[in-house]
Amino acid sequence: MSQRTKIKALLESGKTDIDVTVKGWVRTFRNNQFIALNDGSTNNTLQVIVDFENTDPALLKRITTGAAISATGKLVASLGKGQSVEVKATTIEILGDSDPEKYPLQPKKHSLEFLREIAHLRFRTNTFGAVFRVRNTLAFAVHQFFQERGFIYLHTPIITASDAEGAGETFHVTNFDIANPPKTETGEIDYKQDFFGRATNLTVSGQLEGELGAMGMSDIYTFGPTFRAENSNTTRHLAEFWMIEPEMAFYDAKDNADLAEALLKYVITYALDKNKDDIEFLTQRLLEEEKQKPQNERSEMTLIEKLQFCLANDFERLTYTEAIDILKDSTPNKKKKFQYLVEGWGTDLQSEHERYLVEKHFKKPVILTDYPKEIKSFYMRQNDDGKTVAAMDILFPGIGEIVGGSQREERLDRLEQRMDEIGIPKDELWWYLDTRRFGGCPHAGFGLGFERLVLFVTGMGNIRDVIPFPRFPKNAEF
Ligand code: ATP
Ligand code: MN
Repeated sequence: MSQRTKIKALLESGKTDIDVTVKGWVRTFRNNQFIALNDGSTNNTLQVIVDFENTDPALLKRITTGAAISATGKLVASLGKGQSVEVKATTIEILGDSDPEKYPLQPKKHSLEFLREIAHLRFRTNTFGAVFRVRNTLAFAVHQFFQERGFIYLHTPIITASDAEGAGETFHVTNFDIANPPKTETGEIDYKQDFFGRATNLTVSGQLEGELGAMGMSDIYTFGPTFRAENSNTTRHLAEFWMIEPEMAFYDAKDNADLAEALLKYVITYALDKNKDDIEFLTQRLLEEEKQKPQNERSEMTLIEKLQFCLANDFERLTYTEAIDILKDSTPNKKKKFQYLVEGWGTDLQSEHERYLVEKHFKKPVILTDYPKEIKSFYMRQNDDGKTVAAMDILFPGIGEIVGGSQREERLDRLEQRMDEIGIPKDELWWYLDTRRFGGCPHAGFGLGFERLVLFVTGMGNIRDVIPFPRFPKNAEF
């Protein structure tokens, strides 16, 4: 294979009059002369000029939208507008033909829904190229943020035997012939004979294991796949998603919120810097998309403005109780515009409430703390009021909940008492409780849904469009 230069590097090199070889996929071919070539390294295409008078017509015919080609020639300053350099090709080689009649990606606008059906090809579009380059940058930035701070990247198991968290429906993992599983004498499925000798499932969260790591290594984080068989067909839920879960020994609730805010700002800053072109493209895309909406439903800020605004301001911090007071007094509540009216203290917030707080009331990211213990998990640290726990949810404009976390209950007696109250089997979680028996200490952590972060930074509207191959009810294609 001859040396090939990626288009991004060429466009940024500032060089001209050098010999280059470029490889990529033809976006368009105009006048038997101008190829717009893209190789996915950047949203920008490189113009390749074909010397059509000296090129075999049979070859010219094969330069079609979607074809993979290699072009060798001189990189020269471009006279045309829209590009600074172009390649005057001396040799064109077809690496892979693409029948223009059958190629599903025509050089025109396709709907996101249609592109989801051809997710195997959507990497070749501007929108998805940009989305997945931003996704890549965000993932890298997450690691860099934690690594700079001395956190240990810990791999928690994908297959677990505990759904103690009760975070959602789990996917079962079994080796049985499901049509004919072994039964016990009383007719139940006998998991003792299964692969692991017990019932197992795909993880819904690495938190409990993450806490074990933090109880010896101080600061850890996980970044891995998470599975929830929740049958929610929303634009915010996937059955398989990636979660970032840091756990920190000797952190209290405020330290936890500070870290989450710093992480979010760090990775957004990083992407704005690293993927400027992509985010500018996505900003334009969103403007175009919003033109379809009535004026009053369009965003007041463009995507880039939203991201910059998020960086420039402190997140608003308030308690659940304060939020309820604001919601009770809000116009949509009084005018009965909310689907779920906010009447009393104690119920969980619906996404319409979260969005009202973030998008209408504060108009910026919000950190809500100290939720009623009844609506939160058993491991959250109990506050002195006896009613609330040291939970925190971070709510983002257009997204709703992006982070869920808490200070963890480190006091063995309180933890056991809460587990008894809500019927969580202590014997199954003996290992978790051991960390409270031996050298327990204040600690905290949170889970950041990676796709929700990518949604926010790319301005896309549906979570299925920010993960390469989305998994959701009735869909596991590709
Ligand atoms: P929600 O109320 O939105 O369903 P949750 O309360 O179930 O969220 P947690 O269990 O706290 O969420 O999970 C931590 C984070 O993981 C959430 O803040 C969110 O960013 C992300 N998350 C949760 N469920 C999903 C899902 N099904 N698909 C994608 N991301 C998710
Ligand atoms: Mn959920």
